[in-house]
Amino acid sequence: AFMSASTTPVVKKGYDVEEIRAQFPILKELVHGKPLVYFDNAATSQKPRRVIKAESAYYATINANVHRGVHTLSTKATEAQEAARETIRKHINAEHAHEVIFTSGTTASLNLAAFSLGQLLLKKGDEVLISGMEHHANIVPWQMACERHGAKLKVIPITDSGEWDLKQVPFSEKTRILAISHVSNTLGTINPIKELIAEAKKRSIITVVDGAQAIAHLDIDVQDLGCDLYAFSGHKAYGPTGTGVLYGREELLERMPPWQGGGEMIDVVTFEKTTYAKLPFKFEAGTPHIAGIIGLGEAFRWMEDYGKSAMAAHEHTLLEHATKELLAIDGLRIIGTAKEKVGVISFVIDGVHHYDLGTLLDQQGIAVRTGHHCTQPLMERFGVSGTTRASFACFNTVDEVEVMVAATRKAVKMLR
Ligand code: PMP
Repeated sequence: AFMSASTTPVVKKGYDVEEIRAQFPILKELVHGKPLVYFDNAATSQKPRRVIKAESAYYATINANVHRGVHTLSTKATEAQEAARETIRKHINAEHAHEVIFTSGTTASLNLAAFSLGQLLLKKGDEVLISGMEHHANIVPWQMACERHGAKLKVIPITDSGEWDLKQVPFSEKTRILAISHVSNTLGTINPIKELIAEAKKRSIITVVDGAQAIAHLDIDVQDLGCDLYAFSGHKAYGPTGTGVLYGREELLERMPPWQGGGEMIDVVTFEKTTYAKLPFKFEAGTPHIAGIIGLGEAFRWMEDYGKSAMAAHEHTLLEHATKELLAIDGLRIIGTAKEKVGVISFVIDGVHHYDLGTLLDQQGIAVRTGHHCTQPLMERFGVSGTTRASFACFNTVDEVEVMVAATRKAVKMLR
């Protein structure tokens, strides 16, 4: 690896990153003849062998539809899917397994939430409160709900360091829903959601959390957080694409109308009227992504074997090192300098377009994300058209950070 002049931090003892890396088959791939340096984990994380195996074992040995037949394979598939639901219940400390609803991802979870809560709660003149750092998936569904019901979208402003301006939270008597991200995908900021949820609860406001960027890095306890709904994707937490969860508090889910209609979600159907299935099936119309859900359960068991806090501590070492090294590059500015961050680092460089930098890094085998990261209003807030973003996972190394910093220096020389 290229080594720069500054000192390399010592990674904590007992965390065997090489042992972890050995479990990710993709890390042996070459990109443009170079070892892959995968720093796009906020977009989607790579998958350990155990997850890949669990998914393919379903297809190879127990493939059948769930909850339908009395036959053996269907029973086995159902049991495997429901075991995943219980794994996730425990992982996020939900009270009941039926509070865990399987979806295709955070986007689907948030659309379900916005459609259903809109129907249940929103009247003309009501307000939905989001924050200025939300992903489009936690903006657009609320805008659509507001349009349907004549409600207004209000926004918590963002400070220069990329945190909520808690002195300027526009709560009002009209606020019905607070929908906020736990962690920003663009800035890496870990938001003080517990405090804001407590404020919202005092005002009888329903709270929805976008946990897409938190789920792989923070221990989540939905009861301790006190949120009503919590959404996340499987694929950002070492699980398969096409999987996600919407956790909901039982009492609220009971009151919420279903989002999609179809098979599996009904009790009795006649042409005059349909009654709905009990939780969680009321919100799970159609055949779910059974293989993916089984893989998702395995991903969570895999994370638990290592411990998210150990992974997060390792990622934090990478973040600190990358921050220090990148800031030494002339004209480089980090967007998102909050005190509490996960391993996400977004930056811009004077005279260098993020797209050109991303392309040159790719030539060196380094995968980063460039652009607006589905947070256009946040880009506007910081007056940039886009950034280059490196996002770390448990399998990344200090050497890889060194490779990226050296390649960035080289690219800057070529581009300026
Ligand atoms: N919210 C945040 C904060 C995200 O980072 C993402 C994914 N980039 C989403 C929502 C949407 O997740 P998905 O594409 O998995 O539905």
